[in-house]
Amino acid sequence: MNEIQKAKKILKILNKTYPKIKVPLRSRNVFTLLISVLLSAQCTDVNVNNVTKSIYPKYYKPEHFTKLGRRRIEKLIKRIGIFRVKAKSIYNLSKILINEYGSKVPKTFEELEKLPGVGHKTASVVMSQGFGHPAFAIDTHIHRLAQRWGLTNGKNVVQTEKDLKRLFPKKTWNKLHLQIIYYGREYCKARDCYGLTCKICTSCYPNRKKPVKTKKA
Ligand code: SF4
Repeated sequence: MNEIQKAKKILKILNKTYPKIKVPLRSRNVFTLLISVLLSAQCTDVNVNNVTKSIYPKYYKPEHFTKLGRRRIEKLIKRIGIFRVKAKSIYNLSKILINEYGSKVPKTFEELEKLPGVGHKTASVVMSQGFGHPAFAIDTHIHRLAQRWGLTNGKNVVQTEKDLKRLFPKKTWNKLHLQIIYYGREYCKARDCYGLTCKICTSCYPNRKKPVKTKKA
C-alpha cells in the first residue's frame, strides 16, 4: 500500500472513529485561545483547563492581563509548568496586542509568530481553531503517529508538517489535526504501541509482527 492509499484509509478510519470532534482547550474568544495554547506547552490540556476556568470568567482581554502585571499573572498560573516564562510571555504579548494590533489577535502566521512565546505550532492552532484557516499544527504526538503510520520519514516536525499537508486534502487539516491527537491519546500512546491490534495499523499493515519504534521530534 503506498502513502496516498494509506492516508485515504487513515482518514476514513478517523472520520468513522471521531465523526464529531471537540476542541480540547477551553477558551472564550481568540485571545483566550491564544493564551490557552501558549499555556499548554509541556502541560496537559486538562491541567490548562483546570487553571483557566477560574481565570477567564474575569480576565479575557489583553488589557486585563497588562493591568494584572507579571507577578499576579504568575500567581494565577502557578500550577502550570514553566509558569514564570509563560507569565512573562502573556504580559508582553498583551502589551504588544494593545499597542500594535488594537487589542486584537493578528490573523497571519507571520504576525503571530513574532509574539513572545508563540511558535509555529501555537500559531497554527490559533489560525485553525481561532480563525478557521487551514493549518496543520504538528506537536510531538502527531509527529509520533505520522512516523508509526509510515506517513513521514520522521526527520523532524517541519518535515512531518510538509508530508502530512502533501498527503491530506487542505479541507481536512483542521479536523484531522484533532482527530490524530484524540486517536493518539486513546490508542497510540507515547510508550505503548500495541502493534497488532489498533484499527489503523491492522488495516495499513496487516503483516506487521511487532510494535514500532519512533524517533523523537
Ligand atoms: S499499532 Fe496502534 S499503537 Fe501501534 S502504531 Fe499502530 S495505531 Fe499506534
